[in-house]
Amino acid sequence: MPTAQILTIGDELLSGDTVNTNLAFLGERLRQLGFEVVRALSVRDRIPEIVAAIGEVSVDLCLVSGGLGPTSDDLTAEAVALAAGVPLVRDAASEAAIAAMFAAMGRPMPDINRKQADLPAGCDVLHNPIGTAPGFAVALPRGSYVACMPGVPREMKRMMTEQVEPRLRRRFALPDIPRRIYRLIGRGESAVAVEIEPILAAARARSPGLAAVYLHYRAATPQVLLILEGLAGEGGARATEEELRSFDAPFQAALRSSLYGIGEAELEVRVLDACRLAGLTLATAESCTGGQVAARLTAIAGASDVFQGGVVAYANAVKTAVLGVAEDTLQTHGAVSEPVARAMAEGARRALGADVAVAITGIAGPGGGTPEKPVGTVDFAVADAEGCMHKRVQLWGDRALIQHVAGIVALKLVWDRLVARGLARVGELDAGGISGERR
Ligand code: ATP
Ligand code: MG
Repeated sequence: MPTAQILTIGDELLSGDTVNTNLAFLGERLRQLGFEVVRALSVRDRIPEIVAAIGEVSVDLCLVSGGLGPTSDDLTAEAVALAAGVPLVRDAASEAAIAAMFAAMGRPMPDINRKQADLPAGCDVLHNPIGTAPGFAVALPRGSYVACMPGVPREMKRMMTEQVEPRLRRRFALPDIPRRIYRLIGRGESAVAVEIEPILAAARARSPGLAAVYLHYRAATPQVLLILEGLAGEGGARATEEELRSFDAPFQAALRSSLYGIGEAELEVRVLDACRLAGLTLATAESCTGGQVAARLTAIAGASDVFQGGVVAYANAVKTAVLGVAEDTLQTHGAVSEPVARAMAEGARRALGADVAVAITGIAGPGGGTPEKPVGTVDFAVADAEGCMHKRVQLWGDRALIQHVAGIVALKLVWDRLVARGLARVGELDAGGISGERR
């Protein structure tokens, strides 16, 4: 397996102003491509520090992000040229592309932007269709391949997938690593581990490939992802796709309804896809989540044929006027109660003309809790043509976490309802679903 390092450049990464999401993205991509990522380093925008970091590279590949901008603190090209022992030369095609980008935006091009076309001599230029800074790739004298990309996350991601990855596939003999993702909500990491570790242990005895399977736990409240990877074991044996699939049935049996999906597709994508296939439309009525469920659904491209809309019914007056929740019900049971959640869901179905509606009403805190309904008490309801289900959940954490978790739990309840009606299933989404066009 070829080895790789990730070098992220920028003062803002070390001062805490910017979260280093590029590192997470690149690490994930490299692992999926079949590199062994052995090291990550962040340095400031200082020539000697960047040169030193590049000089230390002793792996097959080094991916770099940041410092390709036009300003005086963007020094990556200069530093890499020094490390590679070549001069910087102006690349005419890149200069023309930068000028064309400004022309397209209808803005005059500041002279300092020309600097972005100064690249290490002999490098392979990486086109940037959505920004001014081209990237570049060079081989260092000692043989390491270095690819430099912009710091702006969306530019970096596009350059990585469209420009860098094809080059890596050509340049390196990359193994095909089978991988299977199991998606869970409703059980903690340790509770999941207790169920599945024995299954995995038993499987390891079955073949050398299975013996080497690597299991990652990825917990992000309230979700847990289990990722099985067919890493190479003794003698290079690797689990096959088929062997990884053989975990589906025992995992489903052990994890039951907390296992909602297998494969790349996220919960929102699955919910929308299942509704679409069943010809159902969806609506939301949100109190304590303030529209987060609607935001999650509309983040998926193509949601409009399923998602009708949502009501943020925060004040009781809106619950009454827009969703038709009876004032009596609110007075008698309180805004956070089963009858109100049910009435909100049914009201949203009616008001928004949807087949399925989900409602969320809860106490996000920090104030407003009582002994009977402490902070984190959330009532959910899902209404459809066949009835209305309710669930009360006690959530923990601060306001932001309670809202975040409630938003995801709401979607999980919609999913469970679709599964119960035979309209959705846990397995992988079929090709042709919307899973390919997310965000
Ligand atoms: P350019 O993008 O023009 O090549 P640059 O990468 O140095 O130059 P900056 O102006 O430093 O650009 O950063 C652009 C934006 O990208 C900033 O908002 C910065 O915080 C963000 N950014 C840079 N590096 C990272 C990173 N590793 N992870 C997440 N965001 C980053
Ligand atoms: Mg920078």
